[in-house]
Amino acid sequence: MTEVTSTSTNEGLFERARGVVPGGVNSPVRAFGSVGGAPRFLASARGAYVTDVEGREYVDLVGSWGPAILGHAHPEVVEAVRDAAGRGLSFGAPTLAEVELAEAVRARVPAVERLRLVSTGTEATMTAVRLARGVTGRDTVVKFAGLYHGHSDGLLAAAGSGLATFALPGSAGVPAAIAAETIVLPYNDVAAVEAAFAEHGARIAAVITEAAPANMGVVPPAPGFNAALSRITREHGALLIQDEVLTGFRVGPAGWWGLEAAREGWSPDLLTFGKVVGGGMPVAALGGRAEVMDALAPIGPVYQAGTLSGNPVAVAAGLATLRLADDGVYAAVDRASATLRAAVDEALTAVGLPHAVQNASNLFSTVLGTDAGARDYAEMLATESWRYPAFFHSLLADGVYAPPSAFEAWFVSAAHDEAALGRVVEALPAAARAAAEA
Ligand code: PMP
Repeated sequence: MTEVTSTSTNEGLFERARGVVPGGVNSPVRAFGSVGGAPRFLASARGAYVTDVEGREYVDLVGSWGPAILGHAHPEVVEAVRDAAGRGLSFGAPTLAEVELAEAVRARVPAVERLRLVSTGTEATMTAVRLARGVTGRDTVVKFAGLYHGHSDGLLAAAGSGLATFALPGSAGVPAAIAAETIVLPYNDVAAVEAAFAEHGARIAAVITEAAPANMGVVPPAPGFNAALSRITREHGALLIQDEVLTGFRVGPAGWWGLEAAREGWSPDLLTFGKVVGGGMPVAALGGRAEVMDALAPIGPVYQAGTLSGNPVAVAAGLATLRLADDGVYAAVDRASATLRAAVDEALTAVGLPHAVQNASNLFSTVLGTDAGARDYAEMLATESWRYPAFFHSLLADGVYAPPSAFEAWFVSAAHDEAALGRVVEALPAAARAAAEA
């Protein structure tokens, strides 16, 4: 019977997984490392809900870390994937659907004159950095502490997401010579950017930034911060890469670009996308000005390639998702987010725990232990994030699956209807009490 136990409980499966998979998971934050306990091994997901191997259902506030903007397993997306799969899983040759997806992205974000599809956000940012280096002939890249751009060597310094969760300064295995080409600056600090460019401007290829950071918790850009990055990079002949892997097609129909740059009348040189653009399948992308993008092979000298790039089954999911994600979907996501933000605020206020619910459009997270909030990584690390595990586990016990880290955004979808949101709202008072008593 041990066989049965090891596949039918989260504990048993975690133990079995750890015998064959490093740490039992294929991406670190999934391991519940900072909140403790066995991760929930999920068996299925539909709409706003996920179900684990023990048959317990949870309201899902992770949404596959971003892609599930329509909710899980939207019937039309699943149908599009089935259709595509029936026509062949992978060709290694161009397809109509890839062109349609690129056109769909450009229709929403005209700053994207050309789009190259890859399979992960990591590849998208890694390629964007290489492209910036290739185009400028410079090597140094500026990033901000607490922001996450995937796990390529040069971008892991002082990174958010799992590195924030596990309190790691960076990663072992990154050559010193590569780390030395990354300048890490405090977020939301224009003076620090000016100073770095004054000293190193001639060797800086690019500034890479999350359009609105959500990997150290959600920290919205201060008004004018992104525009200043655009101005400073332009003045010094460097490129601005806005990473919209997380915000793209989630915070609005045209991502953060549509909410800020388009309104202010400027654009980054390069943008990266992932998550929603693949609708839950492995699609990510980089795009931008034609003049820069056309430096990619096969036209230009900057090499990048992928056996599964533009995979037809994955692209079908992305295309169907973008087609379905209309204004009504964004209005529903915004509403769900506003409902939960208000409910979290109310529950924490009721127990007298200082807090700040920080949001960038519909992305949000909660800073515990201070009313002042946090505007950069140092401030975020100084908050009482140690209260989060108690908050998280109380929610989990009441059937709400929040991100297993204080430093991740909460994700809602258009499928988070009143019933789903009501379950979260009901679970919040006990969670707030647990956080206050932690
Ligand atoms: N950039 C940002 C802003 C992200 O949030 C992430 C993933 N959370 C990545 C890049 C990396 O994407 P992937 O995990 O698909 O490699």
